[in-house]
Amino acid sequence: MSTFTELGASAPIVRALARRGINAPFEIQSRVLRDALAGRDVLAKSKTGSGKTLAFGIPVVEKLDASMPRPAALVLVPTRELAVQVGDELTDIASARNLRVATVYGGVGIPKQVQRARKAHVLVATPGRLQDLLDRRLVSLGNISILVLDEADRMLDMGFQPQVDKIVALLPRKRQTMFFSATLDGRVGKLARDYTNDPARHEVVEDRPTIAAAHHRFVPVEQEDRVDRLVDLLSEERDLALVFVRTKHGADRLKKKLGRRGIDALALHGDKNQNQRQRALTSFERGHVDVLIATDVAARGLDLDDITHVVNFDPPYDHTDYVHRVGRTARAGRSGTGVTFVDSTQRHDVSVMAHKLDLGREFEAEGMKMNAPPRPRPKTNRGRSRRNRSRSGRR
Ligand code: ADP
Ligand code: MG
Repeated sequence: MSTFTELGASAPIVRALARRGINAPFEIQSRVLRDALAGRDVLAKSKTGSGKTLAFGIPVVEKLDASMPRPAALVLVPTRELAVQVGDELTDIASARNLRVATVYGGVGIPKQVQRARKAHVLVATPGRLQDLLDRRLVSLGNISILVLDEADRMLDMGFQPQVDKIVALLPRKRQTMFFSATLDGRVGKLARDYTNDPARHEVVEDRPTIAAAHHRFVPVEQEDRVDRLVDLLSEERDLALVFVRTKHGADRLKKKLGRRGIDALALHGDKNQNQRQRALTSFERGHVDVLIATDVAARGLDLDDITHVVNFDPPYDHTDYVHRVGRTARAGRSGTGVTFVDSTQRHDVSVMAHKLDLGREFEAEGMKMNAPPRPRPKTNRGRSRRNRSRSGRR
């Protein structure tokens, strides 16, 4: 992995980043930076939180010069919140190169905003308000040499295409364009092609979950003592715990039962709205609550690095679900444990699943017997861990 310096970032920017604890580029940043700093148009797709703001922010501030006519760069974003957030993040690095950043969004007074916008090298704007300022001839975009569309898919979803089209038509044709979106298919892809010129395309796909680094336990339980066993487990040394149940009612019931035993948990529902989900996750991440109860559906897209325990309070439906659940712990070089509760009626199914996952020994470690026949091992064991190989030797 290259450093920011190796990718072409200047010393003042590297120092400004380091002051914020940002020392090594994320993947989308490494990939976009090289092309963007070389002046190429870019199409980029990567998931939320992967660092897209700096992927375009660094090239924007590196390629501008404080003596350029203003505004020299335009960043279009779908919402006011995002304008503020991106504006803040860019201000930080822009000041290292004596550049000014201004935000333009609706719902606040125009005169002050215009004053600041006219002095700024970089405008971060929502399409609606910017269009308004352009219609009133309060700002001009004739000197824009870099255009960024951030969250372009959301801009289209929110119906901003007419404004975006009008704004882009006012920009110099000779410019650099960077296009960021969660998808580059369909309508967004067409827009991306229309607005860019021979772009470099970068997509960072999500890592497939893996359970290779996790420790696995299969714990025999009776239905009526599962909550006690869970309480015991949760009192062990740990960071965040993610507890899987089969239904959302099960999630609510378990939350109540834990509450009565003094354990504050969050129940995450697929059908809770995005705001509620986000609030729940934020308090989980900040450590206000360290037990999260989820169904398979509710946990979809959940992206947390500090989970040390995944507990299958209800067993997963099959081995694929097991990987999706337990794959959320032991990530990024950290250790983690997947614990599966197994009552007497579930033993057969879970042993079949354990067998498919090559976790037969772990299944038997706490007193249960596998009842699936041992699967013959393939001669070539490419990609298998040493642990598994020594186990097959044991047999
Ligand atoms: P995205 O736009 O892809 O959803 P953001 O650009 O908002 O993601 O970045 C998410 C968070 O990660 C921000 O808090 C940002 O400051 C932080 N961040 C970005 N790049 C890095 C990095 N290279 N190292 C550490 N933190 C970073
Ligand atoms: Mg973003």
